[in-house]
Amino acid sequence: MSFETLGLSAELLRAIAEQGYTEPTPVQAQAIPLVLEGRDIRAGAQTGTGKTASFTLPLLQRLSARASSSTSPAMHPIRALILTPTRELAAQVAESVQNYGKYLPLKSAVVFGGVNMNAQIKELQGGVDVLVATPGRLLDHVEQRTVNLSRVEMFVLDEADRMLDMGFMPDIKRVITLMSPQRQNLMFSATYSDEIKKLAEQLLQNPAMVEV
Ligand code: AMP
Repeated sequence: MSFETLGLSAELLRAIAEQGYTEPTPVQAQAIPLVLEGRDIRAGAQTGTGKTASFTLPLLQRLSARASSSTSPAMHPIRALILTPTRELAAQVAESVQNYGKYLPLKSAVVFGGVNMNAQIKELQGGVDVLVATPGRLLDHVEQRTVNLSRVEMFVLDEADRMLDMGFMPDIKRVITLMSPQRQNLMFSATYSDEIKKLAEQLLQNPAMVEV
């Protein structure tokens, strides 16, 4: 199995090669073709399995294949939202988005709590395609109208079980109501309790199951 056979673009293959990856991990081999097809997915995968690249790579490819409908920064909508439970994870995922997307004309940003909002606001005002965020700070930006989620085409919920443990379920439900229903959803969780399964049923449409 190679990355070439998964249907990824030359720009992404080049970035992957620079990371030194020679072959996809099992979650990448399963998830990448499904996400490229446009399917919602419900994945059971722990940290360390390569799950970040399994959603980031096809997300970047799908966004770059369909141009944004607007060009002016003021109208530049957020097209993909990746929610993570902690700022450490948000920073890590944002770094992956940067690394894998380095040859694509997409802009990304990360917002998390515990730091001043002004630098984040400035970055958001420049126009962002892919936003990585923790739930609380994301909703702070929504309140301040520095983030608008109505044009999100792809939504990733990463580490859903940890989100629940940290009390983020109400925030996640609120975030879901702020996005257009016309979107692709990718959900990742190490474990699936009844409550997480219920959230998956509400969030995902005809999901493909990915288990590693
Ligand atoms: P994750 O599970 O997404 O936190 O990734 C765990 C680690 O595996 C990260 O340091 C990645 O850079 C690395 N990684 C991801 N995909 C691959 C791959 N296909 N080959 C080698 N390393 C990888």
